Amino acid sequence: MAETTREAMDCDVVIVGAGPAGLSAAIRLKQLDADLNVVVLEKGSEVGAHILSGAVLDPSGLDALIPDWKAKGAPLNTPVTADNFYMMGEAGQIRIPNFAMPPLMNNHGNYIVSMGNVCRWMAEQAEELGVEIFPGMACSELVYGDTGQVTGVVAGEFGKNPDGTPGDSYEPGMILNGKYVFLSEGVRGSLSKEVIAKYDLAKDSQPQKYGLGMKEIWEIDPDKHREGTVTHTMGWPLGGNAGGGSFIYHLENNQVYVGFVVHLNYKNPYLFPYMEFQRFKHHPMVADLLKGGKRVAYGARAITEGGYQSLPKTVFPGGALLGCSAGMVNVPRIKGNHNAMLSGKAAAEAAFAAIQGGRSGDTLDAYNTEVHEGAIGKDLRQVRNVKPLWSKFGLLASLGLGGFDMWTNNLFGFSLLGTLKHGKSDADATEEASKHTPIDYPKPDGKLSFDRLTNVSFSMTNHEESQPAHLHLKDPSVPIGINLPKYAEPAQRYCPAGVYEVVDDKFVINFQNCVHCKTCDIKDPSQNINWTVPQGGDGPNYPNM
Ligand SMILES: Cc1cc2nc3c(=O)[nH]c(=O)nc-3n(C[C@H](O)[C@H](O)[C@H](O)COP(=O)(O)OP(=O)(O)OC[C@H]3O[C@@H](n4cnc5c(N)ncnc54)[C@H](O)[C@@H]3O)c2cc1C
Repeated sequence: MAETTREAMDCDVVIVGAGPAGLSAAIRLKQLDADLNVVVLEKGSEVGAHILSGAVLDPSGLDALIPDWKAKGAPLNTPVTADNFYMMGEAGQIRIPNFAMPPLMNNHGNYIVSMGNVCRWMAEQAEELGVEIFPGMACSELVYGDTGQVTGVVAGEFGKNPDGTPGDSYEPGMILNGKYVFLSEGVRGSLSKEVIAKYDLAKDSQPQKYGLGMKEIWEIDPDKHREGTVTHTMGWPLGGNAGGGSFIYHLENNQVYVGFVVHLNYKNPYLFPYMEFQRFKHHPMVADLLKGGKRVAYGARAITEGGYQSLPKTVFPGGALLGCSAGMVNVPRIKGNHNAMLSGKAAAEAAFAAIQGGRSGDTLDAYNTEVHEGAIGKDLRQVRNVKPLWSKFGLLASLGLGGFDMWTNNLFGFSLLGTLKHGKSDADATEEASKHTPIDYPKPDGKLSFDRLTNVSFSMTNHEESQPAHLHLKDPSVPIGINLPKYAEPAQRYCPAGVYEVVDDKFVINFQNCVHCKTCDIKDPSQNINWTVPQGGDGPNYPNM
């Protein structure tokens, strides 16, 4: 095939991804120097279309970036007024009193928000400062310079035929060159994965760990709605099968975010995270809340859980990893947005200083130091043992030991346990099916629980069918030849969007359903699935997730 010719555009900083990390970087760069040429590229059809968080927002990141965010109309409308934590059994629950929780777990002072709407507002702030934001532009390739440094990205390639050849409406996209390229793609970014491998950025860190987060928006009976209430649960229905838990956040307009996270280091390949979520809604406490209401949206996204020990080096020649492209979630708090914003701000400051000094294409070491040793590192460090304790000893031991460890870290700044290791990757944690028995899940009732495909239609996801599948199998024989006999092909169950099926001994990939959660790329036990970007604008269209 002839080499593709593309137009090129030169910028000071190219930013991949309009999430809280990327937008914060763009805003900070223009605050520091209005003349810098800053471009943000986003694969969603609009900013916010692919954003999925809980979300309870710790405003510390926003305070640092835009101190007068209130006066500027930021959509932080629902302060947290009540904070509940429950251990669930099948028929009831026990409330853990707030005084028993380490102070860092306190949600007072935080806000229940739609992060999609927060990102839309941040994009407006960025554009007012002169940032150019291009939604519908998926960045599919990195461009490298003579010395192996990243010099830019290819974005906006459209109209390929299913076999990868250019179709009638083919657009080759363009190359955006930058003195620095920021990868703020969120969890398991496809370009971020490439640079982490190419520059061996994770060589001194533990494997990254992940959870799968699924979320529905419900409109509930106004009599049951308690605006500002935050509820977290652990225990049933996961029990000993997997780590994880739920969140229920009462936002504005009688809406409630109901979400469920399953840690992806589970062993039993028969576990069906989506069905665990559906089952959870039948718990009496949850069913009571939702009865008479209606589910108005559904979505899913992986969440980074490795924390401090899994942070890779966040810089490489010509660029930096921001936010959850590096993995900055404080796991027990289920919060990463504040760190994403702080990382964007710090990367911008490092790039600004470098550009002022006439540099380009080198390594922004000041940013890496700030991530590991500044506010982000401190936030992650004090909770670093919670996840490894949970993985090793299960929920109850981790609550006791992990809670104690957080108390000592939070109050005195030290841990008796040192820094525990995570061990295996989530893919390697999967055990052979022969060691486990299939799990019998109740059928969804269509009122509180829904089948996967019906729910996927509430993510408004859409992919042009006449393009190559963006989910690549490194070896097409693996799903049926290895994964099916050995692991009962778990892709059929771990995917929260029903992308993967085994039909008549054939592995079928319904890529049109994909909600870009990246779980397949993470959990496939053979590490045979490579998630790449589809053409821009495709994917979910979340309203106010
Ligand atoms: C279920 C769930 C609940 C959570 N709850 C909370 C919470 O309550 N509070 C909290 O603080 N945090 C929460 N988090 C964590 C939080 O969502 C992340 O820490 C945060 O989203 C990280 O921000 P980011 O900017 O790094 O990435 P993201 O928010 O994921 O944004 C990345 C953006 O980049 C775009 N993109 C990716 N790749 C490309 C590409 N190649 N080309 C172009 N565009 C691209 C994406 O479409 C997306 O818009 C939760 C996460 C999940 C999954």
